[in-house]
Amino acid sequence: MNEMTLIVKTLYLLGAVFFILGLKALSSPKTAVRGNLTGAFGMVLAIAGALLQGPQFSLIWVPVGVLAGILIGVILAVTVDFKAMPQLVGLFNGFGGIASVLVAASMILLTLITGQKETPISAVATAATGIVGAVTFWGSLVAFGKLQGLISERPLRYPGEQVVKVLVALAALAFGVIYVNPDLVGGFDRNMSYWIMAAVASVLGLLLTLPIGGADMPIVIALLNSYSGIAAAASGFVLNPPNSILIIAGALVGASGIILTQLMCKAMNRSLANVLFGGVGAIVETAKGDDIYAGKIKSTSAEEIAVILKNAQRVVFVPGYGMAVGRAATPVRQLFEALEKDGVTVEFGIHPVAGRMPGHMNVLLAEENIPYDKLKEMDEINPSFPNTDVTIVLGANDVVNPIARESQGTPISGMPILDVDKSRTVIVVKRSLAPGFAGIPNPLFANDNTLMFFADAKKGMEDVVKAYKEAD
Ligand code: NDP
Repeated sequence: MNEMTLIVKTLYLLGAVFFILGLKALSSPKTAVRGNLTGAFGMVLAIAGALLQGPQFSLIWVPVGVLAGILIGVILAVTVDFKAMPQLVGLFNGFGGIASVLVAASMILLTLITGQKETPISAVATAATGIVGAVTFWGSLVAFGKLQGLISERPLRYPGEQVVKVLVALAALAFGVIYVNPDLVGGFDRNMSYWIMAAVASVLGLLLTLPIGGADMPIVIALLNSYSGIAAAASGFVLNPPNSILIIAGALVGASGIILTQLMCKAMNRSLANVLFGGVGAIVETAKGDDIYAGKIKSTSAEEIAVILKNAQRVVFVPGYGMAVGRAATPVRQLFEALEKDGVTVEFGIHPVAGRMPGHMNVLLAEENIPYDKLKEMDEINPSFPNTDVTIVLGANDVVNPIARESQGTPISGMPILDVDKSRTVIVVKRSLAPGFAGIPNPLFANDNTLMFFADAKKGMEDVVKAYKEAD
């Protein structure tokens, strides 16, 4: 092993160690920022190793590529609307997929130009990269389009759908086999078979995601994230010599993506098969709340809430999407501090799918430096609701909707919820009686122990903080 190879291998090894340490730190909000930076540092080492490894790397193209990537990344990160985060993540997965397709394609061109012989492993990896990468790219574009409202969120169903998908998948595999062994069909052009295979896999990517409703897209995005990792890992075997850091990083993304997919399915009480092939997840627009709400809604004011809180010993906040979109975490923290100062026990009940991203609420509350031990997961906080004087449901809807307890017939049937209705008083802060993500009415709003505070999350909470402080 020459000196340069040793340096490259060491950089790759250290890069992999930093990736793993970064992932480990990402498992807790307390250490998540450090985890992110650790992973990024691992990536710097990996890039340095890759640049040293490639004897022929261009001093023009590599910096141009890096600068273009930085520019696009910074512009997107700074300008993208907070609400559009899930589709942005989806788009990034797609970029990963198409990058793998192009890496494999360029290796084919290289072997054609140099006459270098491809190993059987590399040939199989090229076919796998092309198929998984193309499915990821087109699937991610559909996910992006659905969440961005560019295409209909409704599931696109048609007769014989599953058969069509299987046939297209078999066709992509067939061209993959031809790519690996062109002699099977009389020496078919390998470059051509790769591109036909990628094109058929692209159609498969469309066919797999179009029948999935918008409400299930976040699960699909987590799954596509996993696919993008698998494509990257496969492309690591395509390169000559195989690139160990690409294989490791791809495998880590592939594994963590599938774990996240499973966690989200569990939180929504759905099986992955049901998400992928069930054709549910469409936003129900027809549900009417009139019958449920008529004459039963009691509205309240910031001043009244302040008085109720003054008499409380235990208060639980249940944040949801409305807190995120209304940017109301700061007044929540202020009220939390004021209550704690008065000796009130305050905790936060966090539903695993509250908001629009996994960990959405944890991130927002951690940004406000709310102690992490105050954030309780659903299973932990649920038994405490009967002993809770006041639960403030802030911009949450589906995750506290008792309809979910019905075993079937609604988009959230069977989804575990936060049992806020068991607390003595429930205060729901939202702007109207409009439904949440699932598009269905919420009987919680009409309960005897529920008070509705119709307000924007931020303005409403600011008013409550003011009224609470003045009520001394
Ligand atoms: P919901 O989407 O059910 O409800 C949010 C509520 O916030 C709405 O009813 C809305 O009512 C209110 N709201 C919106 N803007 C404001 C504002 N500025 N001020 C005050 N209130 C506001 O949110 P939940 O968090 O309860 O549930 C999340 C849903 O999203 C679940 O169905 C989940 O399955 C789904 N989902 C979750 C993902 C995740 O990873 N976390 C991913 C994708 C989907 P109004 O308009 O009346 O104010």
